[in-house]
Amino acid sequence: MKYVIISDIHGNLEALQSVLSAIDDQDQVLCLGDTVGYGPNPNECLHLLRERQATCILGNHDVAAIDDFGTAYFNDNAREAIRWTQQILDKGHQEWLDGLAYELRLPDFLLVHGAPVRYFEYCKNIEAATRAFDNTDAPLIFVGHTHIAEYYSLAPNGAIAQAHMQYGGELTLEAGMRYIINVGSVGQPRDLNPRASYVTYSSDDSRVIWHRAEYSTQAVIDKIVTAKLPLALGQRLLQGR
Ligand code: ZN
Repeated sequence: MKYVIISDIHGNLEALQSVLSAIDDQDQVLCLGDTVGYGPNPNECLHLLRERQATCILGNHDVAAIDDFGTAYFNDNAREAIRWTQQILDKGHQEWLDGLAYELRLPDFLLVHGAPVRYFEYCKNIEAATRAFDNTDAPLIFVGHTHIAEYYSLAPNGAIAQAHMQYGGELTLEAGMRYIINVGSVGQPRDLNPRASYVTYSSDDSRVIWHRAEYSTQAVIDKIVTAKLPLALGQRLLQGR
């Protein structure tokens, strides 16, 4: 089975279209949440994911959009964008988001937005990765949330290693090892590579590959200006930060 795992689309339709056009039609798409927030096309992104029959879980911006959860902790730009999103979001999409789960466990892997159990914790260093491994027995964990493409591996002797993958790359999973795979962000990368990030996982040969897809950041910036969303949310797309 070949899976395409994506996360943190954040209403960036151009980035999502670029990723979907780069993958095979028969690949199963798994989305780790934050489909909305920040970007100018939340409805269009949800429509595309639903049309593609992607399996999705909830991110913190999705919950904020439907329940106003956690917005007190958002920075000013994120809060302004989520208010805008709350007003523009279709009722049908709201209800669909409301029906999603916080995690999805398949026999050989776990999907969460940020980390196991503590769903919106940022898995961004060895300490956080240690907690994440401790909180589940899943051998393979796919996460997003930090918008940084990377992975952590846990060896049988307890050693945890971290590797950045923001320029793409691949990993063959070894028996006895456990892994946290951060798929990066489709719509707002923060690993200094502005191209859309996604991961493919082939369960047949245990291969994980990080990819980046080019798209027009300027087209998205123009929409951000038209929607009167904070301009900084467009400018950061140019640098991928
Ligand atoms: Zn996000």
